[in-house]
Amino acid sequence: MDHIFTPWRYAYVASADRETSCIFCNRAPSREAKAEEDERNLVLYRGPNCFILVNRYPYTCGHVMIVPYQHLDCLDKLSGDAAAEMMSLAQRMEGVLRQLYRPDGINLGMNLGKAAGAGVAGHLHMHVLPRWYADANFMSVVGETRVLPEALEETARRIRQALAGYRV
Ligand SMILES: [Zn+2]
Repeated sequence: MDHIFTPWRYAYVASADRETSCIFCNRAPSREAKAEEDERNLVLYRGPNCFILVNRYPYTCGHVMIVPYQHLDCLDKLSGDAAAEMMSLAQRMEGVLRQLYRPDGINLGMNLGKAAGAGVAGHLHMHVLPRWYADANFMSVVGETRVLPEALEETARRIRQALAGYRV
């Protein structure tokens, strides 16, 4: 990945140690999760094995994560059903991001283990994010003008709408 200047990621690094339990398990497991709770946590979609949420510390606008409910640190421990669902959701998210954000490209991938850059190393997750030729400059401006918190709600609203009715 290119080096992108993202000052808000410092807040993430500084706060990561304070959350004692897994941030994905905290947001993931309840199929009966209240709609308001999902909205507050920027959860966009819940499937049988995986859910999608907006990354609160994004590299670019539209940065989402596809996360299996199961707390696993290795892809090879994931069930075939959950792995297939992750890929199906990745396909769907690619289409949604292309439609909503008209990016020049899309990054899609997983960082397994802290050495590979995983922020939450114990619970695997797939990043999907739109990219533009000039996104590094664009995002540093957005970060410094503090538009981001509002932008995240807007990201969630738009993607939720685009995913409405989708079933894996
Ligand atoms: Zn977890």
